[in-house]
Amino acid sequence: MAEMGLGAYIDGQRRVGRSKTGIENIDPSTGGLIFEYLPADAADVDDAVEAAGRSFADGRWRSLPPALRSRAMQRLADLIEQNGDELARLEMHEAGKLLVSARQGEVPFAAECFRFHAGWCSKLEGNTRQLSMAPPDEFHAYTLRQPIGVVAMITPYNGALVQSSWKLAPALAAGCSVVLKPDEKTPSSALRLAELALEAGVPSGVVNVVNGTGAEVGAALVRHPGVRKVSFTGSTETGKKIGKVALDDLKKITLELGGKSPVIVLADADLDKAIAGAAEAIFSNAGQVCVAGSRLYVEAPVYDEVVAGVVELAKKLKVGLADDKATQVGPLISNEHADNVLAAVAQGKNDGARLVAGGNRSDFNDGFYVEPTVLVDVDTSMSIVQEEMFGPVLVASKAKDMQQCLRDSNNSKYGLAASIWTSDVGKAHRLASGIEAGLVWVNCHGIPDMAIPFGGYKQSGWGRENGLEGLHEYTELKSVICKL
Ligand code: NAD
Repeated sequence: MAEMGLGAYIDGQRRVGRSKTGIENIDPSTGGLIFEYLPADAADVDDAVEAAGRSFADGRWRSLPPALRSRAMQRLADLIEQNGDELARLEMHEAGKLLVSARQGEVPFAAECFRFHAGWCSKLEGNTRQLSMAPPDEFHAYTLRQPIGVVAMITPYNGALVQSSWKLAPALAAGCSVVLKPDEKTPSSALRLAELALEAGVPSGVVNVVNGTGAEVGAALVRHPGVRKVSFTGSTETGKKIGKVALDDLKKITLELGGKSPVIVLADADLDKAIAGAAEAIFSNAGQVCVAGSRLYVEAPVYDEVVAGVVELAKKLKVGLADDKATQVGPLISNEHADNVLAAVAQGKNDGARLVAGGNRSDFNDGFYVEPTVLVDVDTSMSIVQEEMFGPVLVASKAKDMQQCLRDSNNSKYGLAASIWTSDVGKAHRLASGIEAGLVWVNCHGIPDMAIPFGGYKQSGWGRENGLEGLHEYTELKSVICKL
């Protein structure tokens, strides 16, 4: 297979990585080899961080007039759209994303992300303060928001383009320089994003990319003394490891981690919408979504009807190739991941759960497919209820009332997201207030927006992405007191 310089992108140039061990990229839809590349090594990571550090120190990006930075980000958004077919195909081949949703969902979403954050370039501001213990005319005091410096950004395979954009856009708006490390299975979209950023007018050295495994390249990046902040999205297990390393020199850190998000259906809900919403919440992207609605809690009077409806939909969904327009559920990322998901389902059955849909591989070719799966008769002690599977597997429980829905929902180490389905506005807001999760949807699920802060309670993470809160994560706050 030809080596396309996928190891790194440093100072505006692609590089073959200096690691001696190649990484094979497998198409999840077919199980076939797409390419093999030589990843970066620790020396490439040094080069990338140094390039980012130089670009930050000489101010080639952060010191530009904000309006010029904003225009470059707008141009980057346009270029993402213009290159949308290619970017969508990369997502499809490397991550197994459905081509239609990558083209019509992920690509425009990534572009909008840069447009949204472009506006912040000229609105990143501090304010004046009044000293409390001095006469007003003796001091002039104010705060400044300043870019934090070189940011290491580590992203997972599911939604490589969007995850990179969610991090890169606010970091660029704040004036940071960055080194991105995508998952080793999805190395290409971040590289293309960096190339498009250069074409759009973001100077070389501001956006760098290193590709390779987390254990080698990711760990070297997190350890690097030139990195001021780590912005990580991925599993809770990896987030804890990164947190411990970052603690050594107190790097700033944001962690967007795993979830086991509840979907609560109350007896007064519009059941057709709730059933369709619950099925979509877990089966879209084959469940490989951090906010997947993987636990279903239904009030007793409508439990049988809701579960029967979701099971019917699960059995009808077309599992298939990611580039087939008729496909509704695509592949999982790897053979190993599909095995792990099915092992978790088997464990659930051993623990007493009852399988009512799916539970098998759909091996109509050599891709990595798992049928949409539903288990009932579960309780909160079971690992299938507590552990994230990151696959198309739903566990459903009957709840006596709204209070039990709330108790069971909160009985989890995770707290990323939740949805509530009800026609009673009072119940909706009471539940929304009581749920321990960073994002709660009412009568919908999984709607992301750059304006809405996103992040987790409990072991689902630290800090927030998106909105002004997300932008501030890429800044330091400085206070200035001037004696007049
Ligand atoms: P993962 O934690 O295995 O990998 C994520 C990234 O971390 C990859 O780039 C990987 O190479 C890197 N990495 C692994 N070990 C590392 C280390 N020791 N040091 C530095 N980097 C390291 O996650 P995954 O299985 O690929 O992705 C799925 C997980 O991501 C799920 O738990 C999902 O919920 C979570 N996720 C969370 C969000 C969110 O916004 N909260 C979004 C998407 C995915």
